[in-house]
Amino acid sequence: MALSDEIVDRLMGEGIPSVEEIEKKYPPRMLSEGQCVTRIAPSPTGFMHLGSVYAALISERVAHQSGGVFMLRIEDTDTKREVEGAAEFIIKALGDFDLKFDEGPLNDKQEVGSYGPYVQSQRKEIYQAYIKEWLKKGLAYPCFCSEEEIDAMRERQSKTGGRPGYYGMWAKCRNLNEEQIKANLDAGKPFVIRFRSPVKYMYKIAIEDVCRGKRFFPENDLDIVIMKSDKLPTYHFAHLVDDHLMGTTHVLRGDEWLSSLPLHIQLFQVMGWNPPKYGHIAPIQKLEDEARRKLSKRKDPEANIAFYGEKGYPKEVVINYLMNLANSDFEDFIRANPDKNYRDFEFKIERLNNSGPLLDFVKLENISKEFIATLSADELYDRLYDWAVKYDRNLQKLMDEKSNYFKQILNIERGNCDRVRKDYYMMSAIYPEIKYFFDDEFKLTAEDVFELLPNLSRDDVKFIADEYVNLYNPADSKEEWFAKVKEFALANGYAKNAKEITKNPEMAYKGTVSDVATVLRVLITGRRESPDLYSIMQVIGNERVISRLKLI
Ligand code: GLU
Repeated sequence: MALSDEIVDRLMGEGIPSVEEIEKKYPPRMLSEGQCVTRIAPSPTGFMHLGSVYAALISERVAHQSGGVFMLRIEDTDTKREVEGAAEFIIKALGDFDLKFDEGPLNDKQEVGSYGPYVQSQRKEIYQAYIKEWLKKGLAYPCFCSEEEIDAMRERQSKTGGRPGYYGMWAKCRNLNEEQIKANLDAGKPFVIRFRSPVKYMYKIAIEDVCRGKRFFPENDLDIVIMKSDKLPTYHFAHLVDDHLMGTTHVLRGDEWLSSLPLHIQLFQVMGWNPPKYGHIAPIQKLEDEARRKLSKRKDPEANIAFYGEKGYPKEVVINYLMNLANSDFEDFIRANPDKNYRDFEFKIERLNNSGPLLDFVKLENISKEFIATLSADELYDRLYDWAVKYDRNLQKLMDEKSNYFKQILNIERGNCDRVRKDYYMMSAIYPEIKYFFDDEFKLTAEDVFELLPNLSRDDVKFIADEYVNLYNPADSKEEWFAKVKEFALANGYAKNAKEITKNPEMAYKGTVSDVATVLRVLITGRRESPDLYSIMQVIGNERVISRLKLI
């Protein structure tokens, strides 16, 4: 039922630009064959989910791989759910991960791109213009049902086993005439605007999803709310107008929106607009008690993208890991092309894991270890320092005071070495790993030493420590150093290796050369295992070596 200009003005107010004026400002994009325009459209309702970065990466790849445009649009029309600072965080997070959008807001004042504004709350008039148009064409109508009435309707629907929602005979306000609308307005009743679904009976329709292929859905017959009583549009309507005006070719979004697909296609059809292609991305899952479940915003700290920054996973690692979740052959690509990055890989949307990829921290850590192994000591130092500035002021202070010492420590099994160490995987785990280099942190007691060396007698341990102090010469090369340890061990009742002990039981060896080295390692590092001991001793310095050897 089309409404007159007069009643539409009363409902929506005057001075709103016309649809024609708006359309002129948003000329269709000149795209060449195959160029894709994608967007992510997060709502600033809290922290940024790992899944949002995953969707952003996919959208960014689809756009940039085709030479197209990647946009950021902030969907902030649900003012009740909005969380202060969330939009800024989204912009920052995308920047942190180098997911560069070509169009979108840069902060609360600036933006890039000529299809904006890219923040929905700044597009109020645009939506209102289309709502007016829809009211005039009878595609929408005002609904004055109160919350109580809607609740009562739902209750009756559930009692009678009816499908929930505002449709068909339940759609009380669908056929209000102008007189009735006026009377409601005169009575000061608040209202929302509803879409008048053209469908009376539900047919099944087939829709092609770019991730999931052809899917069948019941056609939408719900008269959904398109504008709330605060005169802001709902997501369904805002996304329709925005993706139309912004020329989006591909909407790639979380699969919680899959059930809205028939409605969204219907909205485009009603307008006679070409719908974008839709693709619904399966959510990242995790394994709990051997069962898979969706990564939960509430329960899982690792669902929050900030978690990875706090732990200090390099940004490249998070992106590579997400790329792996998206296209599992990415891993082989990087292995075969270690000098390339994810932008060199041909991402394929149809290869997305539609049953939901599984978050696997062992894998993430391995990717991280491999990546950190490619950094020079200076690069690693800079990354650790940047991390410390944000998350660990004490570490930052220590790094400021002892930057050279830190660089030397980080260079152990890194510079000039054939096998780079692969044990560092996140910045927050580095200092705990290297604490023994710092006297204030080194709290080893003689008792600890003996406990760490249960297969040697206390006297033997003490003997090794006492004798080795006199042998140690910091000027020795690595070969000389090792030859000395070996010679000392062999001369004092230790076998070359375990095999020799088994072969010659009559010798009653006290242990092996490696046991002797372990004694030194425990005394110097407080651990049975460590990176190359010679390098550690070189870095830690003669004075510390001597004083630690003299502990027992
Ligand atoms: N604002 C919606 C959300 O945050 C966006 C869905 C879409 O990408 O269309 O889930």
